[in-house]
Amino acid sequence: MAQAQEGDRFEKKEENSAPREKQLHFIEQIIADDEKSGKFGGRVHTRFPPEPNGYLHIGHAKSICLNYAMATENNGLFNLRFDDTNPAKEETEYVESILTDVRWLGADWQDRLCFASDYFQQMYDYAVDLIKKGKAYVCDMTAEEMSDLFARMKAGEFPDGSKTLRAKIDMASPNFNMRDPVMYRIVHAEHHRTGSAWKIYPMYDWAHGLEDSIEGITHSICTLEFENHRPLYDWFLDQLGVYHPQQIEFARLNLTYTVMSKRKLLELVKGGYVSGWDDPRRPTICGLRRRGYTPESVRAFCRAIGVAKFNSTIDVTVLENAVREDLNRTALRRMGVLRPLKLVIDNYPEGETEWLDAVNNPENPADGVRKVPFSKVLYIEQEDFMEDAPKKYFRLTPGREVRLRYAYFVTCDSCVKDEEGRVTEVHCHYDPATRGGDAPDGRKVRGTIHWVSAEHARDAQVRLYDRLFSVENPDSASNPLDYKEYLNPESLEVIAHAKVEPALADGAAPGSAHYQFERIGYFYPDTESTAGNPVFNRTVSLKDTWAKVAQKG
Ligand code: ATP
Ligand code: MG
Repeated sequence: MAQAQEGDRFEKKEENSAPREKQLHFIEQIIADDEKSGKFGGRVHTRFPPEPNGYLHIGHAKSICLNYAMATENNGLFNLRFDDTNPAKEETEYVESILTDVRWLGADWQDRLCFASDYFQQMYDYAVDLIKKGKAYVCDMTAEEMSDLFARMKAGEFPDGSKTLRAKIDMASPNFNMRDPVMYRIVHAEHHRTGSAWKIYPMYDWAHGLEDSIEGITHSICTLEFENHRPLYDWFLDQLGVYHPQQIEFARLNLTYTVMSKRKLLELVKGGYVSGWDDPRRPTICGLRRRGYTPESVRAFCRAIGVAKFNSTIDVTVLENAVREDLNRTALRRMGVLRPLKLVIDNYPEGETEWLDAVNNPENPADGVRKVPFSKVLYIEQEDFMEDAPKKYFRLTPGREVRLRYAYFVTCDSCVKDEEGRVTEVHCHYDPATRGGDAPDGRKVRGTIHWVSAEHARDAQVRLYDRLFSVENPDSASNPLDYKEYLNPESLEVIAHAKVEPALADGAAPGSAHYQFERIGYFYPDTESTAGNPVFNRTVSLKDTWAKVAQKG
């Protein structure tokens, strides 16, 4: 009987699992270590270094929030730096979207917008310096050839070549990254900022430490895969004898029921599996924003999940709970009916309209009240009527009395059906003494349902989103098929003609407000929405319906 309590939802507070600030723990640890060692003299300067080859996702948000918090919590500085060292995959479109997303998240880089490409000359000069020191050499082997030819090379079969620049470190190192890694490769492509000025481009390991060093970064925070690149990061800086930031690794964020690799996110767009980078079912920042996530909720999520040294996968419900909690505080309450059924109040005067007071947000009295039109014919949800209902069904069924939100008590009398036996209309009578929702004789009703006056209702398109994938880890080896085989065919349901109260249609311009459709969930006007043609995205349902399914087994 999962349905039994739904009528009571108005009175219930959302369950609040106040996020513990786990992120701070990681930061405090680092700062405490610095204090002991005296490194950086108490200075903190972090950066977020995206490569402009895709849109940002929630994993990047974790990195942004961590680096930004690390700086702001310690009177430090924060750079936004584009790691634009690979012209073949990078585009200005991505630069623009990253700027928008980082700004939206609230990480303020002030005047510290940096581009790795601004350091190309300096990197080149540093490389020449290493060559002169005998620490780098030009080679004609590609990285792929290297592993095949490694043994023969070791035997001295080949002369030193001349088509990549490589560091001269140790071909016998147990750490692959230290086996004379490539520093520069030849790429003939237009760079989004330097055009065709450069024909050689620096590799990540060479470039990244230099970017950090040039900018005076203290803590270069990166994901765990770079742990065994750290000796190389250190080697380059040590050989050059330049300022030396510290690389610190942390676990990347993985989320259930989604994919986060840029390649796959791009493939889903290109293959038409989703409507674009900002499809509201995607874990991209622009997708989350379009769906109705707030910067506050994304930041709260990032604080709550914390920062660890081992990889794990976070349940997507943690993210959903974060936005629920935030929107519960801030969303404007409205009434909308997704699957309308006519309710006729037989003893209500024909042609009359009452404008009733409705509270905009019980969590914030400052949001005030609005007027909601009430009349003889209303729309209610189809699921709020049942002809032959069990005892614990606290909604409309013949003989049962319920409260109409903000209005009156009504008692159900009968229903009208079509030839196929579908209910087309429900009839009831109201008690005029219960206006505003309470009976003078103190009698109680168990259920409260929402409604929209039929005469005043406005049509809206409502998009109900579910998880993009139907398995927890579409990427994992335990799911052997291509990840696209696990796309959830029911991840989008479009309701073409929902009925909403006038205030909702009037507030349907994109970005105008976040709404709670009472008893249903949180909604946000889509980027395609207008007052004339409202379109609402369901951000998240009121309760975690998946938990309910799991509970029922
Ligand atoms: P790639 O390097 O393959 O293009 P990427 O996801 O690493 O993809 P970057 O632009 O290099 O993309 O990432 C920018 C920053 O975001 C890096 O510091 C990286 O460590 C961090 N980052 C990327 N993905 C995640 C994730 N899932 N969780 C946490 N941090 C991440
Ligand atoms: Mg990367």
